[in-house]
Amino acid sequence: MRYQNTYVNLDTRLYHEQLPTALDNPRAGHFNTQVAQQLGWSEDDDLMTRWVDILGGQYVPAEFQPLAMAYAGHQFGQWAGQLGDGRGLLMAQVLDSNNQPQDLHLKGAGLTPYSRMGDGRAVLRSTIREYLCGHALTQLGIPSSNALGFVVSDTRVRRERIEAGAALMRVADSHIRLGHIEWIASFAPDLLAEFTDYMIDTYYPECRDSEKPVLAFLTAVVERTARMIADWQLIGFAHGVMNTDNLSITGSTLDFGPFGFMERFNPAWINNHSDHTGRYAYQNQPAIGHWNLNAWLPHFMRLEGVTREALADCLAPYEATFMQHYQQGLCCKLGLPHESDSLRLAFEWLTLLEDNLLDYTNSFRALLGLVAPSAHPYEQQLLVTMTAELNDEATQVWQAWSTRYVAQIQQLPLEQVINEMTGNNPVYILRNSMAQRAITAAEQGQFEEVNRVFELLAKPYHVQDIATDLDIAPPLPHTPQEPISCSS
Ligand code: AMP
Ligand code: MG
Ligand code: MG
Repeated sequence: MRYQNTYVNLDTRLYHEQLPTALDNPRAGHFNTQVAQQLGWSEDDDLMTRWVDILGGQYVPAEFQPLAMAYAGHQFGQWAGQLGDGRGLLMAQVLDSNNQPQDLHLKGAGLTPYSRMGDGRAVLRSTIREYLCGHALTQLGIPSSNALGFVVSDTRVRRERIEAGAALMRVADSHIRLGHIEWIASFAPDLLAEFTDYMIDTYYPECRDSEKPVLAFLTAVVERTARMIADWQLIGFAHGVMNTDNLSITGSTLDFGPFGFMERFNPAWINNHSDHTGRYAYQNQPAIGHWNLNAWLPHFMRLEGVTREALADCLAPYEATFMQHYQQGLCCKLGLPHESDSLRLAFEWLTLLEDNLLDYTNSFRALLGLVAPSAHPYEQQLLVTMTAELNDEATQVWQAWSTRYVAQIQQLPLEQVINEMTGNNPVYILRNSMAQRAITAAEQGQFEEVNRVFELLAKPYHVQDIATDLDIAPPLPHTPQEPISCSS
């Protein structure tokens, strides 16, 4: 049995069973055949032939048992009380081709008891951003939700203007957020033990082998979160709204709103237009991950035998796990071994990027043009573009740095260096301008650009013919990367 809808067997206070509200005249936006395969959907299957109807809410397959989940959260550090699925439904839970649990969640499925002031809908613009971002992160090798596809419709949705309603079938290893536990602690504390067992059995079964499964589970959540955020920092991803209701208990990236990929390197960069204090700035993400877990863990003190000291021990490895993963990753990006000399070079390199507002992605990739020029004409060109942006003083800094860097590289087997650098420095990320061009065309009914960007991001570490100069062009220097509005 691939479909295993277990959430619906939990206490009924935790969710509200309901069907999606159909969109008007849904039409295909894009479909991810790789995800369909992962879910075991095949060509002759009515899931596959009727995917547009399923995403449009016209048709609910017999295997699905849709429900809206209750959860709560801290938003921008403030307790927000009950939130819940206000415009999405958990449609089904399925074991994928690797026997890993996956949730199918339809975002934009209409009003639920948790909609509060919202209309239950999602607009095309934010749907495309989420679709492309989940795909981009997945293909970059970062734990993330992804999507099976999306549809656009004639349903009109009011935001700052009237926009087309759309819906996305999100696929994530779990939709349980840190905020689920905050909801239980506030509204149904008697369910905590049962729900904790459910999380362990479903998502962390290996923790059952431990003497203290609950503590092993909590430690694993802490470690996975730390590693996910290290991955974000390394690739230059800013989530934008790291509220506790947007963080998954599996350490997979979830809920794409005002996210962005770093272009010109500025650690203080804030991508969320509503984030006036920079709480969710790129450089604050590791600390905010810790803040969220620190707000979350004490709820488990309600469980028998779980003490404050034991919870502190669960949280303690966060910083070391983050540092280990981040520093190791930085060294890999430079093709160097993880040791203090490499780290010194790495931090000087980041300072050079910051001082000269260089493009994060292109500059790392450009180093391949220095390390192995003849095999990397594309990267050699990136290097020319990069160094052309440096003034005389910065050129001297660069020359001194690159001489030391090349001296380190020359002590290593070149093939290994190249493999590490090509596998850790993408050529393509989802730049806001790229997403915007795909959105503008899609809003005119043209999905070729979504398709092209999707293909490009399917192989982010490979130079591709379908790319244009625009795909790799950062904003002009001293033109701030446009922040993204929360409206979606
Ligand atoms: P988000 O900022 O997208 O993480 O959403 C925070 C909360 O607001 C969640 O409970 C969402 O379900 C809810 N929400 C966001 N947009 C809408 C909408 N258009 N209609 C109903 N609920 C929404
Ligand atoms: Mg209920
Ligand atoms: Mg959310």
